[in-house]
Amino acid sequence: MQAYNDSADVGHFIHGERVAGTGSRTQPVFNPATGARARKLLLGEAADVEAAVASARAAFPKWSDTPPIRRARVMLRFLELMNQHRDELAAIITAEHGKVFSDAQGEVSRGIDVIEFACGIPQLLKGDYTEQVSTGIDNWTVRQPLGVVAGITPFNFPCMVPCWMFPVAIASGNTFVLKPSERDPSASLFMAGLLKEAGLPDGVFNVVQGDKVVVDALLTHRDVKAVSFVGSTPIASYIYETGARLGKRVQALGGAKNHLVVMPDADIDQAVDALIGAAYGSAGERCMAISVAVLVGDVADKIVPALAERARTLRIGNGMEADAEMGPVVTREALQRIEGYIGLGVEEGAKLVVDGRGLKVPGHEDGFFTGGTLFDHVTPQMRIYKEEIFGPVLACVRVKDFGEAVDLINAHEFGNGVACFTRDGNVAREFGRRIEVGMVGINVPIPVPMAWHGFGGWKRSLFGDMHAYGEEGVRFYTKQKSIMQRWPESIAKGAEFAMPTAK
Ligand code: NAD
Repeated sequence: MQAYNDSADVGHFIHGERVAGTGSRTQPVFNPATGARARKLLLGEAADVEAAVASARAAFPKWSDTPPIRRARVMLRFLELMNQHRDELAAIITAEHGKVFSDAQGEVSRGIDVIEFACGIPQLLKGDYTEQVSTGIDNWTVRQPLGVVAGITPFNFPCMVPCWMFPVAIASGNTFVLKPSERDPSASLFMAGLLKEAGLPDGVFNVVQGDKVVVDALLTHRDVKAVSFVGSTPIASYIYETGARLGKRVQALGGAKNHLVVMPDADIDQAVDALIGAAYGSAGERCMAISVAVLVGDVADKIVPALAERARTLRIGNGMEADAEMGPVVTREALQRIEGYIGLGVEEGAKLVVDGRGLKVPGHEDGFFTGGTLFDHVTPQMRIYKEEIFGPVLACVRVKDFGEAVDLINAHEFGNGVACFTRDGNVAREFGRRIEVGMVGINVPIPVPMAWHGFGGWKRSLFGDMHAYGEEGVRFYTKQKSIMQRWPESIAKGAEFAMPTAK
């Protein structure tokens, strides 16, 4: 597969056209593997949000009136195009995010799953009907779209996370404005082009690139009825509070610190494979990455040497190289933050078993690379345990038994994903029941739910009531209406002053 090398400026997509927008502010987009400035992002201003929302508002009446099956057919054509262009899109992701190409292909596939789910929208929007709730009266419920809705997305999944939102929103009859991450903005424009090619009417899907200026303009715009956000917890909390105060529907997914418990009866080789893949895959920049290994009983002494060996020998390089297991992190700032946390862990007294700092990849000396880092004897009081590092750093915490493992995890501020490796059915069952985390894996390290199950964490990993995609996604993007009807033949004479009851 060819590396993505387009050097054109990255702008917006408004009313079916690529436009440069009204602003003059720009920001470089880097190739993290080389450290080079690859292209320039044109940052949007409030006027660009105004134009995108106006286009989406104008498109809403006709699109929401389009029968769901015809909306689904547009999604089906988009699905075909996404499948055809999967590798091109994956190369764009690798070029701007840095993750290895096979991982980028996986990301696109998981986005495609949601598009496929959205193709079933006629069935998903089917309402309820009760005949004869009272003599001559029928009652039914329908779900109707909200209007213009917005999505604000993080850098770590520039295709998959937008796909958690817009296919379901659009198939449900809404029109959409996406504000992608400024660090890897090109995937959004590529998908916008495919949506147009699939026959989506102009204005139904728009992209405004930018930073807080664009986010705030969307968040406070009176015509934006709902906001879906995915990103870090402080911003998620801000989005939720501001949007809710202004009467909008908000789902704001935040940060994470995901634990993987290894019970003494677990298969150690399987647990090592799981921890290495889940901690260092995508350089730890996944909201479902495992950043804490909870080692129960005598497991630590068996597993830490094996983890250290594997962390030291990770194949790290440009994500477009076929044998690379881990690519660079997204920016120089991210690299500095991650390596700063490693220094902090040493100061806090954790045992640094493998130090990934200062890694230089030959031929890519300016790339944003750090190696896999492994800490042992991490305690719950340490900041490297409490805070999200969002890099390839695995912290091992030793606990005496299953109960202590559950209490440790339940006390953490985040509750996105979690896993338990065991052969004991009762332990697995109790873990699933007692753990206060939104997505649970039993011998599955990264339990990202399938498109029809919905994605969402607990505690400070999600603000709002509804998970992303799945049936909760359909509920988020639609409002319920109940209709009660009778015909003149069944209306009795005379005004009724008592509360109506079934007769
Ligand atoms: P981020 O919070 O920095 O940015 C997310 C989005 O918010 C971007 O579009 C960005 O432009 C915008 N933004 C940033 N600062 C803002 C501000 N002050 N005001 C308004 N908008 C602002 O997150 P990121 O670094 O792009 O992504 C990594 C984070 O996302 C991690 O914390 C990760 O755990 C989280 N994440 C969570 C999930 C989940 O499902 N819970 C999924 C993916 C990523």
